[in-house]
Amino acid sequence: MQSVTQKIIFIGVNSSYSHTMLSYGYVRGWNEPLCPGSQWDYLETTNNDDELSFALRIVDAAPEVLLGTVYLFNQDFLLRVLARVKALLPAVRIYLGGPQFLGDNEKFLRHYPVVNGVFRGDESTVYHILNGSIAAAGFCCLLADGRYADGGIAEFDGSLDQLPSPYLAGYFVPGKPFYQVETSRGCGGNCTFCTSSRHRQVRVFSLERIRAELQVLEAAGVHEIRIVDRTFNERIDRATALLSMFRDEFPAMRFHLEINPARVSDEILGLLKTSPAGSLHLEAGVQTFNDTCLKAVRRPANAAKTIAGLRKLLSCGNFAVHVDLIAGLPKQTCSDIVADITRLIELGPEEIQLENLKILPGTPLAENPLCGMAWNPAPPYEILRTEDLSSDELQRARHLSKIIDCYYNTADLRNLFSWAWLALPEFAATFPVYLAEHNDPLIKPSPQKRLELLADYAEMNGNRRLAELVRFVWLFNGMSAEKYGITVHKTVRGDVRDTGVIFNRADDVPLKRYFVAEFDFDVAAILTSAAPQFKENSHCYVFYLVHGQRLGRLVAV
Ligand code: SF4
Repeated sequence: MQSVTQKIIFIGVNSSYSHTMLSYGYVRGWNEPLCPGSQWDYLETTNNDDELSFALRIVDAAPEVLLGTVYLFNQDFLLRVLARVKALLPAVRIYLGGPQFLGDNEKFLRHYPVVNGVFRGDESTVYHILNGSIAAAGFCCLLADGRYADGGIAEFDGSLDQLPSPYLAGYFVPGKPFYQVETSRGCGGNCTFCTSSRHRQVRVFSLERIRAELQVLEAAGVHEIRIVDRTFNERIDRATALLSMFRDEFPAMRFHLEINPARVSDEILGLLKTSPAGSLHLEAGVQTFNDTCLKAVRRPANAAKTIAGLRKLLSCGNFAVHVDLIAGLPKQTCSDIVADITRLIELGPEEIQLENLKILPGTPLAENPLCGMAWNPAPPYEILRTEDLSSDELQRARHLSKIIDCYYNTADLRNLFSWAWLALPEFAATFPVYLAEHNDPLIKPSPQKRLELLADYAEMNGNRRLAELVRFVWLFNGMSAEKYGITVHKTVRGDVRDTGVIFNRADDVPLKRYFVAEFDFDVAAILTSAAPQFKENSHCYVFYLVHGQRLGRLVAV
């Protein structure tokens, strides 16, 4: 092997300061010992920072080689930075990897001549290139005569434990609020829209290796861990071993996991239930409850099992569950998208994420598109039309995603929004149209503005019940009582009511002021259920305030 002394800098462009690039530690850990004499360093920024400042930091470090991982979110930023670096350091060699290069890379390389080559696959062959050879599995480049050379895919075929751990080697930036810990690679699933479907063989890191990484992070004062594992509960024995380890050995840490709700066994449920409250955060990839669509994307799931599993998870109550849905799947119609949202609102997870489908390079769907599909060929590769959904309908799905985020995913508004969506027959169809006409549907309004829009919608539709609920939620969340012509009084010492208390956060905080509000029915029932049974007749409540408009105690009188 030829030894080349060179200064290598890995550049990480993250989506926020809290994130860091796990790939840096893996690439360095495996390749550094195979490139004797190489000097490695890491520079990072976020894609909201100033591009030129970051480019100048890189130039100041005088690299001979730059490495980086490209994702959908950072590609444009990274390439604009690299163009500047190359203008100032023409001799620097730039090699990139990551999920953006799983497809055909020729067009990319011709379009971005500042990039000397890209890697398809994992970290295992980078050292060949650093040592001056281009004959490396996974390496794609343009040859001196202009021909495109494609090295297929790099995939380390040994035990994953042989890959040096970024944490045990100390190749990570300390002081971040959370870190990713990889526990497996590959996925047994075969979903045609997913980059993981290329690696159907699932390989795992040993429990000892995972434990050792967690111990290093715990000693560094880290409390939040994101587990990188596409198939966390695919093998029940492994999932239970990991959950036991998290619960019994790292009780002060909080773990984010991706879980398949259709495979929640009794053993897994038992462990989840006995985990300390708040120590887990689960992300459940549902995508759709429509079996025809699931079949069309070869996703190994069915709606009935998924719903049953979600019910079990949501009944635990000691952790939050976020659920992902996709709009724009093959065979999916507008009413299927609305039906998926309705089903989830009935189930009641803490958060619903609805995203339009992306046709990612290298996925089966990108390589064998279905009839009628059109999509953006550049990042973010969003679907633009399908056989069953027009461009306008897909745009409306984006608006729906924003609405769900603004209303359902805002804890203070969730029950109100859920009630409106489930109880008012026209709401799912007419509220998005109303919002699109009265507010930029892709801009997130303030919580106050969200309630004002809902109040205006209720008034326009003559919906007294919705209007009363909005008024109650407005007052409950400490927004101005004067808006509704309600007078706020000074609290007279000793006259605070102790019976009929519905809400109390003020046991040791002095109550300062109060107001009384009357409603046409028992609106406070909305606080306890997304599907309350309301009783008609006048209901009066006293709102006791602690600071400014902040509610300290709510009493029914
Ligand atoms: S979507 Fe999930 S289950 Fe399907 S292939 Fe990707 S990682 Fe596997």
